[in-house]
Amino acid sequence: METLPTTPFKYEESFRDHFNAVREDGKRNWFYPQRPQGTWHTRRAWFSAALLTVLFALPFLKINGQPLFLFNVIERKFIIFGLFIGPQDYWLFGLTMLSFMVFIVLFTTIFGRLWCGWACPQTVFMEMVFRKIEYAIEGDRPQQIALDKAPWTSSKVLKKASKWAVFLFISFLTANLLIAYGIGVDELKKIITEPLSEHVTLFGSVVGFTLIFYFNFAWLRDQACTVVCPYGRLQGVLLDRNSVVVAYDYQRGEPREKIRKNQDRTAGDCINCHQCVAVCPTGIDIRNGTQMECVSCTACIDACDNIMHKVGFEPGLIRYTSENAIVKGTSRLFTARTYGYVAVLTLLWAVLGYLLVTRTDTETNLLRAMGTQYIENPDGTVSNLYTFKIFNKTNRTIQPTLRLESPQGTLRFAGEPDLHLEAAGMSQGMVFITIPKSELRHRKNQIELSMYEGSTRLETFKTNFIAPEGE
Ligand code: SF4
Ligand code: SF4
Repeated sequence: METLPTTPFKYEESFRDHFNAVREDGKRNWFYPQRPQGTWHTRRAWFSAALLTVLFALPFLKINGQPLFLFNVIERKFIIFGLFIGPQDYWLFGLTMLSFMVFIVLFTTIFGRLWCGWACPQTVFMEMVFRKIEYAIEGDRPQQIALDKAPWTSSKVLKKASKWAVFLFISFLTANLLIAYGIGVDELKKIITEPLSEHVTLFGSVVGFTLIFYFNFAWLRDQACTVVCPYGRLQGVLLDRNSVVVAYDYQRGEPREKIRKNQDRTAGDCINCHQCVAVCPTGIDIRNGTQMECVSCTACIDACDNIMHKVGFEPGLIRYTSENAIVKGTSRLFTARTYGYVAVLTLLWAVLGYLLVTRTDTETNLLRAMGTQYIENPDGTVSNLYTFKIFNKTNRTIQPTLRLESPQGTLRFAGEPDLHLEAAGMSQGMVFITIPKSELRHRKNQIELSMYEGSTRLETFKTNFIAPEGE
């Protein structure tokens, strides 16, 4: 009896020597994936529909007049689930990003590229929007190949022009969506309704992103995942033998052999029909093993299951599984490595939670003015001069008041500083703090101040107050 191979590379050992998106002559290998059909594709289609609905609805959702989500990278203002993160909260933003990255690493180690196949906007838009339009206008794989080879007749011009026009329109919609996430729908509405001359830069951004999206979905396509995306390139270090990926069960499938009628089959279950390759949007043969180019789109699972049903074999020759499950029949979702990631993530979330709970609406830096001394006043009080900066860490206007909590004393601003704080704005000025000598025991005394908005205390902080020695 022939021994089953222990690696899937018995037949195609050279596949790692070349990049299949580039032909031998250096030209691009344009892929025409066959229209995917099957249970997994239907699940993904419903999931994508839900995801796109949420994606297009989110910019319109508001809490207390503020967007639920905002990612204004230029002004470094972010709103995540209604929580405003301004330029002063760089630590909060940094930690959120860091914990997000650790989460991605953990998630990928356990579930492979589930994100790429199901939720990545590139895959969702490419496979569930643009590709479907292409199938609707140009037909399935054979018709697309024939159309591209055909001379430029009026029918071809009509098909190509209508496809490119629809692509351009959806790219324009997507660019508007992206801008809405960046500046909010209210600002976007202004670009649409007000004279163009008042919003030249933002309108330029819409046009620029429209062209980028069009280029990406009409031409770049699979290469955005296989050449541009850094996440795909990290798979080699993130995945291990327990990671759940879309995989071909070579123990069951090999040796592959065409099926013949009335023949006692001694070969494996793979009938070498190449349907799994024909449907692959990145043009790979999953039977060669896990590859960087696989975006876990499940198209090959459906294609193979359909074939298995037709020839009367068990489905699941290509399925979500792990290398260990294929070889040993068992697999562990949680290993020492994943427990390590969980520990780091828990720690990061704990710190993040603490910082969020203790976060205040304002942040005040109040320091004794450089080069100044205390002033002894004839009425038995001592004054210190301070410079202050108040940062508004919310996305609303605040009119704060500064109060001395302890010891008793008075505040007198130098000049008339404007304490009106715009959203994420800052105010600065100088203030004299005057305290009776009887309240001051040491040369260096600690005093406590608070920032109020009406009767609501926004923040409490301490600073030093210098008094004459021995008083
Ligand atoms: S679709 Fe299934 S049976 Fe056909 S070549 Fe691929 S793995 Fe083999
Ligand atoms: S190998 Fe399968 S899951 Fe991976 S990209 Fe190709 S069709 Fe999708």
